[in-house]
Amino acid sequence: MAWDFQTEPDFEAKLAWMRTFVREQIIPLETLEDHWRAPGGQERFAAVTAPLKDEVKRQGLWAAHLPPDMGGLGFGQVKLGLMHEILGACAYAPAIFGNNAPDSGNAELLAVGGTPEQKERWMQPLLDGRFRSCFSMTEPGAGADPTLLSTTAVRDGDEWVINGHKWFSSNASIAELLIVMCRTADPDEVGPYKAFSMILVPRGTAGVNILRDVPTMSHPDHRTGEPGGHAEIVYDNVRVPLDSVVGGFPDGVGQGFALAQKRLGPGRIHHAMRWLGQSQRAFDMLCERALSRYSHGSVLADKQMIQQWIADSYADMQAARLLTLQAAWTMDRLHESGRHYSDARTEIAVIKFWGAKVLYEVIDRAIQIHGSLGYTTDLPLEQMYRSARAARIYDGPDEVHRVTVARQLLKRYRPTDVPTEHVPTRRRAALDKFAEYLDHEAVAAG
Ligand SMILES: Cc1cc2nc3c(=O)[nH]c(=O)nc-3n(C[C@H](O)[C@H](O)[C@H](O)COP(=O)(O)OP(=O)(O)OC[C@H]3O[C@@H](n4cnc5c(N)ncnc54)[C@H](O)[C@@H]3O)c2cc1C
Repeated sequence: MAWDFQTEPDFEAKLAWMRTFVREQIIPLETLEDHWRAPGGQERFAAVTAPLKDEVKRQGLWAAHLPPDMGGLGFGQVKLGLMHEILGACAYAPAIFGNNAPDSGNAELLAVGGTPEQKERWMQPLLDGRFRSCFSMTEPGAGADPTLLSTTAVRDGDEWVINGHKWFSSNASIAELLIVMCRTADPDEVGPYKAFSMILVPRGTAGVNILRDVPTMSHPDHRTGEPGGHAEIVYDNVRVPLDSVVGGFPDGVGQGFALAQKRLGPGRIHHAMRWLGQSQRAFDMLCERALSRYSHGSVLADKQMIQQWIADSYADMQAARLLTLQAAWTMDRLHESGRHYSDARTEIAVIKFWGAKVLYEVIDRAIQIHGSLGYTTDLPLEQMYRSARAARIYDGPDEVHRVTVARQLLKRYRPTDVPTEHVPTRRRAALDKFAEYLDHEAVAAG
């Protein structure tokens, strides 16, 4: 198959439209955050963004993340990745395009794993942007190692009874639907990866106690109930029907981790491309400042150290971009051939930690070149920096992805008594192999 680094002209035209639209219509909303957070601000924000969403729908770019047979536009991961690169420039943009996390991932999860009834009740409204959802998995006592999750769902007649303590359930406090990862069997009996199920819990179900949205480094003054919060939740004898398990009862029981993999694969591509959108914005600021600021006899752009930052940032971003698009391409090929995304786990794990690192470093350099101005709230860089820090933690911390990559790569190797590249051993083999061509006297003398 030929290698091709071009975007189809028709799709490139859509991307060009998106770039202008995000720059001119969405990014300006950022500077009015105080208005959106004031009383009645969410309604005002909904009013100002409604015509923007309509325009996106008119352009045929709304909720593009699902294949056509699942109610989406069928763009596939490469095109979606290219879209997310543009949307990543501004935190408001994904929602205006109907594919913001965690709703897009949750819709995707229901698309691949939900029953027809679950799709109709929950997926379609999510795709239409009629309500929000959350993915409730991490617990104060377990995150990076999900086999340690302790929230249980125990069968009682024709109901599940859920008990447990979660946190970092993003958007739970404004969600209509909570997708809760629960232990539904004893890991010692069925194995850790068959012991968990995802259960759909509607908002307002008795026993769902949302304690608070946890303020974070990204939003230290976040108030519970604002969009983008990370909720701490106690599930206290929460009762839902047995068929609330994603995939239906009994088929969906024990499928929690398998479904999580399906949900998180595409999500990581989209994250990584959004990080590139953020990185590019920081890089643009870095370069603009380099050309504009005069110090010690020249503009900063003339200093070799600054030139190194620019070259390194560009190279790091370009590497992240190619790695991510290649991972997306691999996933598209797997999807076409009916294979599982887990066959691209190495590619996906690489972009998770590499993309997060590049994002963090490019923003850091952009702050540095702006000096004190970079540290102020007069520029978006300090907010970008604080948000970027989380990228190294969510969707699995960097270390776990590095472990995945190393383990997968090591499978290609075998231990040996003598290193494969051991020169004397190789020389002996080469002497045998090419004996007929060699000067035997010289060899003997040598
Ligand atoms: C902004 C944000 C949004 C989030 N949204 C959601 C959400 O919507 N739903 C949800 O369920 N969760 C969410 N999370 C939680 C996130 O998925 C977890 O934080 C993540 O999986 C890590 O779990 P933990 O925080 O419990 O860290 P821990 O499991 O305590 O790990 C702590 C650290 O230990 C180290 N570590 C762990 N394992 C290994 C290993 N094998 N090798 C080497 N080092 C290791 C790593 O440095 C890691 O950062 C969110 C987190 C953030 C920051």
